[in-house]
Amino acid sequence: MNATSVTGLDVEVIRKDFPILHQTVHGKPLAYLDNAATTQKPRVVIDAIRQYYESENANIHRGVHYLSERATADYERARSVVRAFLNARDSAEIIFVRGTTEAINLVAATYGRTHLQPGDEVLITAMEHHSNIVPWQMICEERGARLRVVPINDHGELIIEEFEKLLSARTRLAAITHVSNALGTVNPVQELVRLCHAHGVPVLIDGAQAVAHLRVDVQALGCDFYAFSGHKVYGPTGIGVLYGRKELLERMPPYQGGGDMIRSVSFERTLYADPPYRFEAGTPHIAGAIGLAAAIEYLTGLGIEQVHAWESQLVRYGVEQLAQIPGLRLIGTPRERAAVISFVLDGVHAHDVGTVLDLEGIAVRAGHHCAQPVMQRYGVPATVRASLAVYNRLEEIDRLVMAVRKAKELLG
Ligand code: PLP
Repeated sequence: MNATSVTGLDVEVIRKDFPILHQTVHGKPLAYLDNAATTQKPRVVIDAIRQYYESENANIHRGVHYLSERATADYERARSVVRAFLNARDSAEIIFVRGTTEAINLVAATYGRTHLQPGDEVLITAMEHHSNIVPWQMICEERGARLRVVPINDHGELIIEEFEKLLSARTRLAAITHVSNALGTVNPVQELVRLCHAHGVPVLIDGAQAVAHLRVDVQALGCDFYAFSGHKVYGPTGIGVLYGRKELLERMPPYQGGGDMIRSVSFERTLYADPPYRFEAGTPHIAGAIGLAAAIEYLTGLGIEQVHAWESQLVRYGVEQLAQIPGLRLIGTPRERAAVISFVLDGVHAHDVGTVLDLEGIAVRAGHHCAQPVMQRYGVPATVRASLAVYNRLEEIDRLVMAVRKAKELLG
């Protein structure tokens, strides 16, 4: 089995696009299996950023000079690329932020602050990343509202009946991850949005672990907000996206005050700009947006369905092989899984496994993955997480499996 026969993608050709992959670590070829933390960047992204700084760097939306107009056009073009990627109706629904974390904080601080009253509830799930827990805790505490948490089953899947039970007339917003970074679970978000909307509850989807692996169509999903980070989809760090339905954004107050988010300012009164500018105070990460557009174009050029098909093969193979190791317990065995395999080894701390793998040139994550409630649910302090991208080879999975066996022999 290889990627070409499965999907038409040639992984060896794709790997040539990623300069960082061609190095040795501790004398072994690098096997980068930490893609859920951040993905590597193809040459086109690196070039787009370099080209921007070399030939058109200027501040945007303000200058009348040539460079400023070019930078503005490219920044706004990046917004259109994101709009098409998410199939949003309108570019005004695309807000550039620092990443998923900032996107969620923005919604909590604006929509949350204006809509939550004492006794109201925000619904999240037991598999959220801390960035989709803590902002809601903070705003609930401030507003006297309550956080409700939908439990998961032993496979790491959301219990839909519990979700339905917890949705009530007090629920003001649901915030749900599309794909769990700790378990790999793909949530049935379209169905969850339908349930929420039947109760008049708007939905924010944390797409940090989804956009690099699954086709996302915000109109088909019907969600009200969708957040993702550029660096997890082959783009740069420091740039991310909040999609918000225009009708909601238009009624939301600004997040931060400053330049670029206003229509007019006087000491008596400031009038705010329309979305998306209302939510983009100050000079944005212009090069980041341009790099993100290059990343999205690269990914869509490969074909997201093909990427998903290849990653699914890798995951299936990895799960099959790892499950045969005595004393290895998979954390999360969902039916729908995307690009993440989490596990623990009996009697061996995840960090020690991570260190042995590192010495073999294999980069994985060992820890709680910013999802401590998931660790608590499974009664483990940490897991080893291998997470995949389109440039990963089957042979890297074989090396992972061999290195885990070695760790078991050495430490078990
Ligand atoms: N949500 C999920 C599911 C994640 O996996 C992550 C990062 O790992 C985040 C949110 C936060 O993303 P960022 O740190 O890029 O803001």
